[in-house]
Amino acid sequence: MTTVKHVYSFGGDRNEGSAKMRNLLGGKGCNLAEMAGLEIPVPPGFTVTTEVCTLYIAGGQKLPQSVKDQVLESLKWLEGNRGRKLGDVQDPLLLSVRSGARVSMPGMMDTVLNLGLNDLTVEGLTKASGNPRFAYDSYRRFIMMYSDVVLGVHKDLFEHEIEKLKAATGKKLDTEITAEEWKGLTVVFKAIVQKELGKPFPQDPIEQLFGGICAVFDSWETDRAKLYRQKNRIPDDWGTAVNVQTMVFGNMGEDCGTGVAFTRDPATGEPYFYGEYLINAQGEDVVAGVRTPQPITKYQAEGTGHTSLEEAMPEVFRTLLATCNRLESHFKDMQDLEFTIERGKLFMLQTRIGKRTALASIRIAIDMVDEKLIDSNTALSRIEADNLNQLLAPVFDPKEKASFKKEGKLMTKGLNAGPGAAVGRIALSAEEAEEMAKTGPVVLCRTETSPEDLAGMYAANGILTARGGMTSHAAVVARGMGKPCVCGASAITIDLKARTLSVDGITLKAATDFISIDGSTGEVFAGQLSAFPSEVNQVLVEKKLKAEDSELFQRFQKIMTWSNAVRRLKVRTNADTPHDAQVARAFGAEGIGLTRTEHMFFEGERIIAFRKFILAKDLEGRKEALKGLLVLQRKDFEGIFEAMDGLPVVVRLLDPPLHEFVPHDEAGQNEMAKVMGVTLAEVKHRVEKLHEFNPMMGHRGCRLGITYPELIRMQMRAISEAALAVAKRGIKAMPEVMVPLIGTVKELAFTKVEMLDELAAVNKEQGTNFSCPIGTMIEIPRAAITADKIATEAEFFSFGTNDLTQMGFGYSRDDSGTFLPEYVAKKILEDDPFQSLDQEGIGQLVQIACQKGRSVRPDLHLGICGEHGGDPRSVKFFHRTGLDYVSCSPYRVPIAILAAAQAKLEETV
Ligand code: PEP
Ligand code: MG
Repeated sequence: MTTVKHVYSFGGDRNEGSAKMRNLLGGKGCNLAEMAGLEIPVPPGFTVTTEVCTLYIAGGQKLPQSVKDQVLESLKWLEGNRGRKLGDVQDPLLLSVRSGARVSMPGMMDTVLNLGLNDLTVEGLTKASGNPRFAYDSYRRFIMMYSDVVLGVHKDLFEHEIEKLKAATGKKLDTEITAEEWKGLTVVFKAIVQKELGKPFPQDPIEQLFGGICAVFDSWETDRAKLYRQKNRIPDDWGTAVNVQTMVFGNMGEDCGTGVAFTRDPATGEPYFYGEYLINAQGEDVVAGVRTPQPITKYQAEGTGHTSLEEAMPEVFRTLLATCNRLESHFKDMQDLEFTIERGKLFMLQTRIGKRTALASIRIAIDMVDEKLIDSNTALSRIEADNLNQLLAPVFDPKEKASFKKEGKLMTKGLNAGPGAAVGRIALSAEEAEEMAKTGPVVLCRTETSPEDLAGMYAANGILTARGGMTSHAAVVARGMGKPCVCGASAITIDLKARTLSVDGITLKAATDFISIDGSTGEVFAGQLSAFPSEVNQVLVEKKLKAEDSELFQRFQKIMTWSNAVRRLKVRTNADTPHDAQVARAFGAEGIGLTRTEHMFFEGERIIAFRKFILAKDLEGRKEALKGLLVLQRKDFEGIFEAMDGLPVVVRLLDPPLHEFVPHDEAGQNEMAKVMGVTLAEVKHRVEKLHEFNPMMGHRGCRLGITYPELIRMQMRAISEAALAVAKRGIKAMPEVMVPLIGTVKELAFTKVEMLDELAAVNKEQGTNFSCPIGTMIEIPRAAITADKIATEAEFFSFGTNDLTQMGFGYSRDDSGTFLPEYVAKKILEDDPFQSLDQEGIGQLVQIACQKGRSVRPDLHLGICGEHGGDPRSVKFFHRTGLDYVSCSPYRVPIAILAAAQAKLEETV
């Protein structure tokens, strides 16, 4: 029997992995092996595979013996390689135990450092390092971390003792604490463990090692890791690997340090080496945001009063820069790196593809094409389509910002950790943010965030922290979420007791007062600023900014140009007004896929005219009322056709149930009675008659036209007369008329007779021969599975995936909010099917309809106009299914365009 290999070594003289083994070794593990293969100095170690995580969880949180054996064998190799032994009382080998899933989950899982220390080895470390303070500081850190992560004794109990010691000795900083004092604290710490657990802190390094490995696997199952996976669509069965690595020390003295670096700026994408470091510190000091780190480069440090690494350790800086550049060229993508300097020698602890903001991802992708590092198709595949959203998102109005500044409302400036403008009431805890977000926008304001804050960060519009750098937890996570974030605004004091947030003289109250943060500049304002359209919007829609004056716009346009050159699937928009149509066209829409004509019935005098139709007692009365509506609708259509000159416009006949057009409260009914010149009783009576138990499945859609043919005749007349009218002004109108909610072909056949008859009447009156395609929506499952019949009457299909989802699942669109979030949380459904198409079920209905429809009409034109038309994953599905176009709301058009290009590119992979 062959034994499965569970443990892979890296570094030193045994390097068994590579970047190609990401699924098995996790991102951190495979890249450590890759770096070692490139002969970049990494502390040697070994990786326990992701497969073991699954085995461990399935086996009731137990490590199989075969894994233990392989760990011990690899440990032996490592000890030989380092010439030091774990538990050696003279010169002990110390280890770090860190998580590492296939994709990075920053801060979500656990780490143990300095493993191998105990009452005896700490003396060995003292001797070997010649630095008792360092040795006892390391030991107390290890007891704290191990107890917290592995034994479940909360770190606050230990922090409290450190605070007590500081108070008693009048010391403020950790660095002021002496070796003897740390030593005393290790005794106190061990006593805490004994008291909390009824047993001593484990002294056996092997027990510590297996404890650490199991704890990392256990951390895959914590609530915060689960939530992160759910939000980021990371499958539960991927598991995490565990990396056991030789410790190198950044905290042995002034010639030591640790830091993180990015090969390009993760917030803006600027092609500058970028990072933060701390002298005499361990890695967790940088990422936990407890001490605000220093900038790495002179460029970053300019004007800040900080000393850069470039100045403090020029030699090390040069090696670091060269290594980072080499890694970027090797991986052909921006790298996020962790490093430690031990006695002037640089070690790389990690390299991974760096998380970046939407703005940065676009800039980096484009720059890398210019630098010939990647081609344009690779660039497209690297930009998350949904991220384009942030290019179109509003920014603060600069004038208002200036006046806020004059009025002294600029509270402070922190680090611009996640671009975008966010306004909201102040929430001081994650729970509060979640609660308050139910009633309005909130900004989560914390001294520093921790992984437990994740749910609150999702709920908040923006995140503000008083401590921590650009790579602190808040910054990394906010960037991943695309949330505006300001970090390290150290002038801010948050008083949890008084429930206030203050900066020199300005005090804001939690839950009631508003705060505005600009994640692009780091500015924090008291009060509510108004947002301003993005530069893309200003160039394309408002035309206030010239394309050549906006780099951001030029990048956006490049992405669109590259996408357009690749994609097959067309992108239309859902628009009901000329303005929306213009916006969408400016964003690249190639026509309108859905005009919901009912929206034209609501405004001002239109609703009056339509209510007259509803109140009319007979056909004559209804026809009379429709005359007024005809004039208004014709004008609306003219406006839309004008905006979409030369592009197709799908107009849908009236769809919603009539009760949506009448008031249901007495005041409204009184008003309606007055305007209509009828009694309140008459209005009430009619409203009552319109009541339906299940209106979504009631008298709506094509059923309206079947009972009131005069209604759809009016609409057909308005469409054709508008098209003919604009044609006289040289405008090419290309309407396509669509019948909603067809379930059987006979409904369509009946409706079409009325439509064509009216069209013939218009042509006769005007001496023209205007015609336009007539098609139907496919939004009832019966229509989907009888699509071959329906296609005999329909020249095109447009999938109404909102209703198709509603009727296919039997979930009410309007009521699903009460249970769907729980379905998703309990994993009964992977996603809300109203947001992202259920490809397995509803998707099949779409596939069947396409196939059956085209079997009788090969040139049947196919589109989709439900909300899914703007969801990248759904767009890719529609591409694969062979649809001709998707249609979505104007601001999602660029997203759909990029997703369509990615779908095409994925085809050839
Ligand atoms: C649909 O059902 O998907 C659709 C586009 O129509 P509406 O949302 O107007 O019902
Ligand atoms: Mg519908």
